[in-house]
Order: sequence, then C-alpha cells, then structure tokens
Amino acid sequence: MNIVILGAGLMGRLLACQLARAGHSLELFESGGPDAQTSAARAAAAMLAPLAESAITETPVVQMGMHALQRWPELIAQLDEPVFFQQEGTMVLWHRQDAAEADRFSRLLDATTLKLPALPKAQRLDANGLAQLEPSLGARFAQGLYLPGEGQLDNHQLLAAMLHQLQSRGAKLHWNSPRSPGDFAPGNPGQPDWVFDCRGLGAREQWPALRGVRGEVIMLHAPEVKLSRPTRLIHPRYPIYIAPKENGIFRIGATEIESDDLSPASVRSTLELLSAAYSVDSGFAEARILDLVTQCRPTLPDNLPSIRRLGDRVLQINGLYRHGFLIAPAMLDVVMELFNQQTSPLASTFSLTIQNAQD
Ligand SMILES: Cc1cc2nc3c(=O)[nH]c(=O)nc-3n(C[C@H](O)[C@H](O)[C@H](O)COP(=O)(O)OP(=O)(O)OC[C@H]3O[C@@H](n4cnc5c(N)ncnc54)[C@H](O)[C@@H]3O)c2cc1C
Repeated sequence: MNIVILGAGLMGRLLACQLARAGHSLELFESGGPDAQTSAARAAAAMLAPLAESAITETPVVQMGMHALQRWPELIAQLDEPVFFQQEGTMVLWHRQDAAEADRFSRLLDATTLKLPALPKAQRLDANGLAQLEPSLGARFAQGLYLPGEGQLDNHQLLAAMLHQLQSRGAKLHWNSPRSPGDFAPGNPGQPDWVFDCRGLGAREQWPALRGVRGEVIMLHAPEVKLSRPTRLIHPRYPIYIAPKENGIFRIGATEIESDDLSPASVRSTLELLSAAYSVDSGFAEARILDLVTQCRPTLPDNLPSIRRLGDRVLQINGLYRHGFLIAPAMLDVVMELFNQQTSPLASTFSLTIQNAQD
C-alpha cells in the first residue's frame, strides 16, 4: 500500500520502520529536519520505568510499559545499527530529610505491584545493598529503593538508526515539509491508501485538546561519575532523574511545567537540576555541559495516550506525554492491528478505546 506518515519524531519513525519492513511504500512528511530537533523524542531521557512512573500515572500506562520492555529489544534487533538498551533497573534515592516523601512514594509502588503481580517489586536497600549495586553511592546515601527490571535506551541512537533504516528501504522522506491530514484524500486516485498522523503537538489544530508540558534536559559528559543505571532523587521541590548513557554521557532532567513555552531553559531550573545532580554524585562538578534542551510533551487532558480515527483510513496517534518511550511499542502494536485487521484486541488489554475525531 501507499502510506503517508506525518511527523518523524518517535511514533512516526517507529511506525514508518514497521510498515517499510512489511513491504509498504512510504512517504514521511516532517516539519523539521532529519536530526529530529523539533521533536519531543530527541529531548527525552528515554527511561523505561513502568513501576517508577506508576506513582504518577494510571495502570494502563504501566501495562503498556511492561509490554514495551519485552518489545524494545525485538524492535531494536530489527534495525541495522546498534542502539544502547539497558535493563538494569532503576535506583531511587532521597536525602534523610525527605524520608516522608520517600515513604509515600514507596507505598504507591507497593499498591501498583499488588495490582500487577507480574511487575517486579521494589526492593528496599540499606547502605550495604546500595553500595553493592552502585558503589559510588554508598558513602552519601544510607538507604534507597531498587526497582528491578526497569530499563532505558539511547534515544539519539534510536532516532538515527530508524532514519537510516527508512533511507535504506527507500522511503520518501520530506524534511521541512509541514502537512496536515486535510492535505490528503486517502483512497482516491493518486492519493495514499492510508495516512497516519504522528505530529505530536503539531497536531493541535485538528486536536485542540492537546497541550504542551514543558521539560528541560541537560546533557553532560561526566566520565568521573560511575552511576550505571537510571537514578531518581526524591525531593519535594526538585525531584530529578539522572540517566547514564554510553561513554560517560548523562541526561539529567525533571522539570514539568504546564506551558507551551519553548524558550531556552531558565537559570532556576538549570541551577536546581545541576545542584540536585551534584548532591547525588560530586563527580558532576567536573562534568562538561554538552546540551541544554527545552521541549514540550504532547499531552491530552487526562494525561493518557489516544488513537483516533479521522476518517476511514486516517489514524491519529497522540498524547504520549512523558511516557512516549515507555508506551510507543504498545501503541505501535495496536496501530498495526488496526491497520491489518481494522480492529485491535490488544487495545482493550490496555483499556485503549479507539475514538472517532467527531465524537
Ligand atoms: C524533556 C522530556 C523528557 C522526556 N523523557 C522521557 C522518558 O524518560 N521516557 C519516556 O518514555 N518518554 C519521555 N519523554 C516523552 C517522549 O519524548 C514523548 O512522549 C514522545 O517523543 C512523543 O512522541 P510523538 O512521536 O508523539 O511526538 P514527537 O516525538 O514530538 O514527534 C512529533 C514530530 O512531528 C513533527 N511535526 C509537527 N508538526 C508537523 C507537521 N505539521 N507536519 C509534519 N511534521 C510535523 C515534529 O517536528 C516532530 O518531529 C520526554 C519528553 C520530554 C520533552
């Protein structure tokens, strides 16, 4: 079939790769360039943390995350280039004065694993347990929580590898070419058979309920820091995450601001992020700042993802919010079922109802 995809961020590239591998003929329209600078996908820390995120999201997102942890290695193996994927768990830390907040967090996680027994339980660690898993932390923290089985990937490598696969499969890629679903009339002569709208916040004109939730991420080169897995610091004002990638690269972020503002990072956010990171590991003092990125997460009013039909052969996939990497494989598998058989048994296992845009 001839398929048009709008948006070459996370969802657009993932779907395009899957459809290209299935032998379809693809055209991808992207308002930005091939480096994905205008996507939320490039800014993200790309942690795959269903249990940690269960403290702030709903069960279906956690279930999609469990699905994704199985699917990402398969999806990555289908690419022609290696992509860093790690499943060494998440470490959660707090300073002594934030113990009450940590207790609350821990109770929320326990409630999740009661509901979803297949999800590995959080383990409480004392200083010894902590030092065994992350030797550099033992001296600073007397306790922590370890969330086994959680993962992360390198989103920059993933975006590049998906791009190369599309190029090698002969997909027609149109950069700096904003489009909307109304530019196509699928099924008519000379028109594509299907259109998939994966424009994130760029779809707002047709989906006014979408809003942006601003986040800032700092990319550091910190070869002296030896953290080996994503680490979260519980804090009442500035909880942060630190995601170590390959070759001494770290992505540090946290901020969630209800705003579409894409202006550069503020001094306050930057100071808070960096001082919180320094409080976890003083090795960050000598780190080099490689990048300081601001982006907005495409978010719907209930903070949950959604798939809508905008006509017989037009599907919109959006609202991935702060969970894009955590849930994209599940969204992909649902969309592929809808494409191949017009209905998706998988969607109901994630409590996803496929709506019509008019409803
Ligand atoms: C700071 C930050 C940290 C994050 N951390 C994580 C994390 O740790 N784990 C996780 O799971 N998720 C994380 N996310 C969320 C994740 O990045 C998003 O959920 C995901 O990227 C959304 O994917 P998408 O394809 O819907 O949108 P995007 O990735 O934003 O892609 C949309 C694309 O559409 C293009 N576009 C827009 N308008 C048009 C148009 N008219 N025509 C053509 N193209 C258009 C855009 O340029 C963009 O390339 C984070 C996000 C941010 C901002």
